[in-house]
Amino acid sequence: MKSIPPVHKVKGYGTGNMYIVEGEELVLVDTGVPRDYRLLVDRIKSLGRSPVEVGHILLTHFHVDHAGCADAFRRLSHAKVYAHKDDVPFIEGKERIESIHKKGVLGRAASLVPNTAHKYTRVPSVEVDEPLEDGDVIPVLHGIKVMHTPGHTPGSACFYLEEYGVLFTGDAIINSYHFLTLPTVGFSNDFDEAARSVCRVADIFEDGGLWLICPGHGPIVEQDPREKLLRLRGRIMRKGRA
Ligand SMILES: [Zn+2]
Ligand SMILES: [Zn+2]
Repeated sequence: MKSIPPVHKVKGYGTGNMYIVEGEELVLVDTGVPRDYRLLVDRIKSLGRSPVEVGHILLTHFHVDHAGCADAFRRLSHAKVYAHKDDVPFIEGKERIESIHKKGVLGRAASLVPNTAHKYTRVPSVEVDEPLEDGDVIPVLHGIKVMHTPGHTPGSACFYLEEYGVLFTGDAIINSYHFLTLPTVGFSNDFDEAARSVCRVADIFEDGGLWLICPGHGPIVEQDPREKLLRLRGRIMRKGRA
C-alpha cells in the first residue's frame, strides 16, 4: 500500500489546476493566473497552514494559467521555483512565445489565433531558482522525479512523487472528464512532439506505480489512472492524435 499524501486541488479562475501538497513544508505545483493568488492563500489557510510555509514551487510550464502567481508566492515565502530549463527563458520573461513562432517551432494553430497566443505570453515573470532536466530528482517529499514532456511548450514537464505514485502532468495530459487527452492543438507548440511525450510517459508506467494523475485541467484521476493513460497512448498510436 502506498500512502497517499495530502494533495489538494484548487481550480483557478483561468481553469488551470493548482495543487498544494502538504509535507513538512508546502509544495505548490502550478500557481494559476495572477488573480488566483487570493484563492490559493485562502485555501492554504483553510488547511491550518500558512502561505509562508510554501517552500517549493514547481511549474509544469510557462503558460499564464500555471505560472501566474509564482512570483507573488516566491516574494512572500522565499520559496524556490523549479521548472524545466527549456521553459525558463519564458518564465523569466527573457523570451516570448512569438520568438519561437519566428523560429518556426510554434504549431500552426497558434499562428491562426495570434491574439490568444499573445494573451498567453503575458505572464508575470519570476526567477527560476532550479532549472531542471529530464530525470532530475527534487529532494522534497521523498523525491520528486522530473519527466521532460515537450510539445505543449518546449519545457513542459511532469512531476512524479515516486513514494506516493502521484503524477502531476500540467498540460502534457489533461482530463476532459470523460477521458485523458492531449492539450488543445491551438495552445501547443508542437502537437506531434506532445503526442510522443505522452507515449513515453505511458511507457514508464506500463507496469504500474501510478496511483493518482493530477492534470493541469480537469479532475484528478483516482480510478484506474494507469489504464486510462495506456488507453490514451493506444488512441494516439492508432490515430496519431488523442
Ligand atoms: Zn493550462
Ligand atoms: Zn498550457
